[in-house]
This record gives sequence, C-alpha cells and structure tokens, in this order.
Amino acid sequence: MAGKCVQCGKKASISLPYGPHKFCKEHFLHFFEKRVRKTIRENRLVQGREKLVVACSGGKDSCTTLYLVNKIFSKSNPVEALLVDEGIPKYRDRALAIAEANCKEWGIPFRRVSFREEFGFTMVDVMRKTGPKKKIGSTCAFCGVLRRRLLNKHAREMKAGKLVTGHNMDDEAQSVLMNVCEADLQRLARLGPISGIAKVKGLVPRVKPLWQCPEAEVISFAGYAGIRHFEGQCCPFKWQAKRNDFRGILNHLEASYPGTMFSILQFFRQAKPLLAREKPKNFKLNSCTECGELTSGSVCTACNMVVKLKGKIN
Ligand code: SF4
Ligand SMILES: [Zn+2]
Ligand SMILES: [Zn+2]
Repeated sequence: MAGKCVQCGKKASISLPYGPHKFCKEHFLHFFEKRVRKTIRENRLVQGREKLVVACSGGKDSCTTLYLVNKIFSKSNPVEALLVDEGIPKYRDRALAIAEANCKEWGIPFRRVSFREEFGFTMVDVMRKTGPKKKIGSTCAFCGVLRRRLLNKHAREMKAGKLVTGHNMDDEAQSVLMNVCEADLQRLARLGPISGIAKVKGLVPRVKPLWQCPEAEVISFAGYAGIRHFEGQCCPFKWQAKRNDFRGILNHLEASYPGTMFSILQFFRQAKPLLAREKPKNFKLNSCTECGELTSGSVCTACNMVVKLKGKIN
C-alpha cells in the first residue's frame, strides 16, 4: 500500500477510493467507529437506556455490529444478542458457534432460537420442497420472512427497545434498487437506518448502525480489530437469491463509478420523507388469527408460508 496515513503520517494500510483517504490500521479503526457513532447519533437510533438486542448470525457484519454496539453502549444500555438457526448444516451451525463464542468472550447474554423448534422444519426441508425450479417460491423468500418473524417475536419477548441488525451500505443500496425495480413503494419507504415510517405496537423497530459502511470496509474493520466471524463458504442456497443479480450490477457500477452506492443512499435519504407521505389509505394492522403477530390481513405472511410448507413437507 503506497502512501501515508492522513492522520499520523505512518505507512498507510488502507486507501478508500472516495476520499481519497489513506489510513494506518489504527486510524482506519478510529475513522470507521466514528462514522458508526455518527450514524447512530444523527438518526437517533438509540434512545435513553433502552435495551439493545443485536441479531447476530456469526458473519462479519453482525459480529462487527455486536462488537461496536457493545463497545459503545454496554455501560449505558443493556446489550444482548439474538441468534437464529435456520438449520443449514455446515453453514449456520458453524457461524453460530462463532457468534456464541464472541458473546461469551465479550460477556454478552444471548438467546438462540431455531426454525426447527419454532416451525417444525429446517431450511434444508424447505429447499427440498422449493427445489431449483422454485416450485412453491424462492428458498430465500421463505427464509427471510421466517427469520424476520423470529427476530421480532424474540426481540419483543426480550423487551428490546431496538433490534439492531448488521445491514451495511451495499445491502441497503441493493434493497433500494430491488424495490425500485419491483415498484414496491411501501417496502422502499420502510428502508433506512431505522426501519418503518411510524411506531407500531408489537413491532420492535430495527436499526442499522452500519448503514453508511461499505461492505469492503466492514471486512477490513473486522480483520484489523480481530473480530472473529464466519469466513467459510456462503449459504449453499445463496445461488437462489434474486439479490445476487442486484449485487453484481451494483458492484459493477461501483467499480466503474466509485461512490454509486453512496449516492443511491443519499437519493433514498432525500426521497424517504416524500415516500412516507404515501401511506396506503385505510391501512390497518390486525393480529394474525394463527400466531397473534401483526398483519394487514387476517393471517400473516409467515403463517401462510408455514401452512404452505408444512403441507409440502409432511
Ligand atoms: S442465502 Fe437464502 S437460504 Fe441462505 S441464509 Fe440467506 S436467505 Fe436464507
Ligand atoms: Zn495513522
Ligand atoms: Zn401469523
């Protein structure tokens, strides 16, 4: 790495394309943490002494989030972790073993929940039924809805003021673009460093402290800070994810035009207040007749999925 750290003049370890900023390891760690603190402060992600429950999958993003949230808030707020096991052998079991080890090392209480215990099946069972042709829907669509269901349910039981997730800038830029391409205004409006557009009883607000952190920088931060995280092969079902195409397109654009993802988030930040005005008329939330969670209909999406899957799995 040619060049010197802009802070101390020592040999630079990292050069950020949009600066150009060159930093030694120590000053990069400082720069990264400062940006996370700024995201939290400017977007009022944490209020008072509320409990923070961090969703930790064992990957680089959520382990970094857990590390920083614990570092910044453990003296003022209760910090706990929530680990969801979707039942994907040689992937999630290994990643969650690392998440558990981090929680123990950092003295963070955690709760581990699983699809098998909650729903009676694993993602391997789901994959067998959805199959490569996505017969009854995409595996990742089931996984995402069911995971969010468990996160909200358990975060609420744990009395979380906020559910903290490890979404980074790349994830969010992909989500913005995906919702634009699907013309899904309501979902688009729910994105941002703090989820949703209004407080809803029963829904734990989700916050994303890494919202402005590019994925490549999260990898560097985790490496320099010595944060253990799962580095093995990706989820074996990942090839099914529609998001892969959007990731590819955005990475291509970012390589040709550095700053593209940042610009997408800036665009979204300006558009969000306008989108929030577009609330559907007569929108009302009910309790799901099956599980009691909130839904706009009578049975929630997760319960509908469980019924659909159980019918196919049994
Ligand atoms: S890649 Fe798809 S199936 Fe695998 S953990 Fe992610 S959402 Fe679930
Ligand atoms: Zn330096
Ligand atoms: Zn339900």
